[in-house]
Amino acid sequence: KFNIPSYVKNVIEKLEEKNYEAFVVGGSIRDLILGRAPSDFDVTTNARPEEIEEVFQEYKTLSVGKAFGTIIVVQKEGNLEVTTYRVEGEYLDGRRPSEVMFSNHLVEDLKRRDFTVNAMAYNANTGLVDPFQGREDLQEKRIKSVGNPKERFEEDHLRILRAVRFAVQLGFTIEVNTYRACKDMGYLLQKISMERIREELFKILLSEKPSYGLNLLKDLDLLKVILPELVDTIGFEQHNPHHDKDVFDHILCVVDHSPPILEVRLAALLHDIGKPDTFSQDKEGIGHFYGHDKVGAEKAKKILQRLKCPNELIYSVAILIREHMTQYANYKDKGLKRLIKRVGKDRIFQLITLQKSDRICSAGEIKMDVLTQREKEIRRILESAEAYEKSQLKINGKDLIQLGYVPGKIIGEILDDLLEQVIDHPQLNDKEKLLQIARKKFRKNS
Ligand code: ATP
Ligand code: MG
Repeated sequence: KFNIPSYVKNVIEKLEEKNYEAFVVGGSIRDLILGRAPSDFDVTTNARPEEIEEVFQEYKTLSVGKAFGTIIVVQKEGNLEVTTYRVEGEYLDGRRPSEVMFSNHLVEDLKRRDFTVNAMAYNANTGLVDPFQGREDLQEKRIKSVGNPKERFEEDHLRILRAVRFAVQLGFTIEVNTYRACKDMGYLLQKISMERIREELFKILLSEKPSYGLNLLKDLDLLKVILPELVDTIGFEQHNPHHDKDVFDHILCVVDHSPPILEVRLAALLHDIGKPDTFSQDKEGIGHFYGHDKVGAEKAKKILQRLKCPNELIYSVAILIREHMTQYANYKDKGLKRLIKRVGKDRIFQLITLQKSDRICSAGEIKMDVLTQREKEIRRILESAEAYEKSQLKINGKDLIQLGYVPGKIIGEILDDLLEQVIDHPQLNDKEKLLQIARKKFRKNS
């Protein structure tokens, strides 16, 4: 009754032909029961890694995970991870089992899995194997540890964050004992590598309703472990008629209203992170946050560096945060070109969507037409031949070097200066005219 793709069935049948047991297991079964599309399929078997390789000797196989029992069977429809039943050895450090032990029993393999909804297996001959009532928990929409949650979180602390991640992705609650253990043991996440934390956090952020996850993290006291900077925004009163909510609630609203694009969601999450650092009140008692965009962009960089994010991601998020207040600027054509120049044409619409969600979540009258109009204007500029970036200038670095300029930083600076002039006077974007300006400059400087 489960709709298992034929390349997965094929692998199970091949193993069964050689008298091994084989089941589809884990998240894919959960997703199939829920009627969601599984992100991938995993197969578990009592065959040992060498035996799996033997059964699939006529196939291409990959053995990168062999020490942990995993052989990847390559078929044209996709790669499939086939893993030997495992009981995990003792966890000595709360992160990784000290040794991997194989098992002959499916139920032992299911027992080592994190949550009941992830601990089910299925094949056509046996049907559903569900020793921990995962199906009931799916029905009740709850995330519940397999066995004693304290022990399971002691073994692998990352499971604490995974509980939140699955709750958010599936729209479930966390069962009370599991919840209690998450809360009591959350500080242990300090010991987990930033990379593993980052991956779970990103999944939370990219889910349908990230605010649910962020509220869970807050209520479970996990926020102070993984994103302490955000704790300072909780209950932070803005004393400003344009912002009736506290900063944290505003952030949650903006994240929920942004499209599920990593850069945008991260920028939404961190866009007001500079507010607690820049707060001041004027004579009337109105709150202001001068320069919070720049302070926030720098703070966000540090946070994302700590999370070991790739540099391009950090750079993009920082730009979006630094520029998010430009929604209130009264740009004409030139101003918009300079905005595109600073933000980059690949990020400019991301900035607008961020600003739109920011507006939706601000108090008072929502003035969306300014941004909608601006979007149109930007589109027009991008489609026109008018320059907003150096590559569009009718001369390039080589031309400058021919004029006598020494290759190096100066070339970029000159081009930038020429671009500034071209933005002010588009008719200057002409090879002869630009060469003339550059020649004059060269003579003046030498
Ligand atoms: P996704 O749809 O995000 O891939 P998933 O349930 O497949 O969700 P994975 O992280 O891919 O999650 O893990 C696959 C399966 O391996 C899980 O369903 C679970 O049974 C098991 N598992 C993964 N990580 C752990 C862990 N840290 N502790 C115990 N079991 C785990
Ligand atoms: Mg998976």
